[in-house]
Amino acid sequence: MEHDDFTVLLENILPEGLEKRLEVREAEAEELRLAMPLSAPLGVELSLTRHGSRVLVRGTIRGAVTLECSRCLAGFSHPVEAGLETHLEIGEKKAAATDHEPSLEELDVQQIDKGCIDLRELIAEQVHLAVPLKPLCSEGCRGLCAHCGADLNTESCSCEGEQTDPRWDALKHLKEQ
Ligand SMILES: [Zn+2]
Ligand SMILES: [Zn+2]
Repeated sequence: MEHDDFTVLLENILPEGLEKRLEVREAEAEELRLAMPLSAPLGVELSLTRHGSRVLVRGTIRGAVTLECSRCLAGFSHPVEAGLETHLEIGEKKAAATDHEPSLEELDVQQIDKGCIDLRELIAEQVHLAVPLKPLCSEGCRGLCAHCGADLNTESCSCEGEQTDPRWDALKHLKEQ
């Protein structure tokens, strides 16, 4: 593993802890394998402390990513502000136990191999968790017409006439009387 800004050697975590300030720009985002482009660099502030065979990583990630609206498919900027708190266990990766469901404690503890911590995975995981599963460019997004695909936020289509709400028909009928 390459030793760079995103890698921490265990021996560098002194008893008083280690502070890390990182900036994730487009180039690093690719390395992090983020599934989305950045619309602003991500500022990452971490503090690492070591207790016996465990390392506690805490910090914040702030920036913005570009998401695709799940209704109209337009790209939009979504602010990211995520807290991070992960316990890492020093030691060899254990084979996944198949005889029981992993406990919450086990899920939270990640193994550290070869005496160094790769912060990429930690950061990428938190960014993905901070992003909604069904992103919306705005609460009131009208989406695309299911018939012709027109973006109903910016245009109206001729399909609309055939899809009027029956309640409006009743109102129209009242007005005509
Ligand atoms: Zn939208
Ligand atoms: Zn249409």
